[in-house]
Amino acid sequence: MNLSDTPAQVLDGKALSERILDSLKEQVEAKRNAGLPAPGLATVLVGNDPASHVYVRNKRRACGKVGITTIHHELDEHIGQAALLELVQKLNNDPEVHGILVQLPLPKGGDYDENAVLAAIDPAKDADGFHPFNQGALMQGRKAPVPCTPKGIMSLLDECGLDLMGRHAVVVGRSNIVGKPIALLLLERHMTVTICHSRTRDLAAEVGRADIVVAAVGVPELVRGDWVKPGAVVLDVGINRNEEGKLVGDVEYHAAAQRAAWITPVPGGVGPMTIAMLLQNTFEAYAN
Ligand code: NAD
Repeated sequence: MNLSDTPAQVLDGKALSERILDSLKEQVEAKRNAGLPAPGLATVLVGNDPASHVYVRNKRRACGKVGITTIHHELDEHIGQAALLELVQKLNNDPEVHGILVQLPLPKGGDYDENAVLAAIDPAKDADGFHPFNQGALMQGRKAPVPCTPKGIMSLLDECGLDLMGRHAVVVGRSNIVGKPIALLLLERHMTVTICHSRTRDLAAEVGRADIVVAAVGVPELVRGDWVKPGAVVLDVGINRNEEGKLVGDVEYHAAAQRAAWITPVPGGVGPMTIAMLLQNTFEAYAN
């Protein structure tokens, strides 16, 4: 590992995601030129959560750029679990749909059960990689759709060109969509992995031992720059507004960049990679 005290190199997720989108566009074009239909991603949005609307719009826009057709379903927040499951079933059976994305969270207050909805999606069309079958496959190290954010983090990490084997990774956060799956992917690459969470006794000491730090917490600048081991790689998943309303990650960026060898910025690090990996998962489901 390139241990250094110089300020970190920035892992540019925006640039990498654009390269991935360009490559996907070429692959889609090649399929179309061979007379095959376009890949299709069904997006399902229930209710009026403004952030969810923005996320889905960005995902659909990215699909448009690479030639993936989106089949968009916008449902009233009162539609209910049974009707939602019926739609998922219809999409499972639709040959023009290769990937299905149900935007979470589902509205509060109805009879919605997110886990049951995720489990109803055909695992082969599971563009988000949240189906319990695919999560089980990930645990067993078998090939299956991988959740988009962890998959994007691994692509960013690969940009550093480091030999990961035997190195120590510390993951802060244990959510099903980021913390746990990224820990499994790092383990798959033969790293020694520590998972920290809200009950961890001495977070500073744990982070201080890490060659690779992944912060996925949702607390602005929780990981202090002076905790970071010199020469470490810092991957910041957090997207938070600080007290001044500025977008910041879970890591104290400027101080951490003084010690790390590589670091992802917020915005422009992990975020754009998540969308790129959604498209990649959709294309892989289509190509399979
Ligand atoms: P979550 O709320 O599901 O999980 C947060 C985790 O952090 C929990 O496991 C909890 O134990 C841990 N935690 C909370 N307080 C802690 C503390 N003081 N010390 C140590 N651990 C603590 O969150 P999530 O869905 O995994 O998302 C985490 C962050 O990443 C959020 O800011 C979210 O917006 C962001 N996010 C970004 C992307 C992206 O594409 N960049 C994708 C998903 C999530």
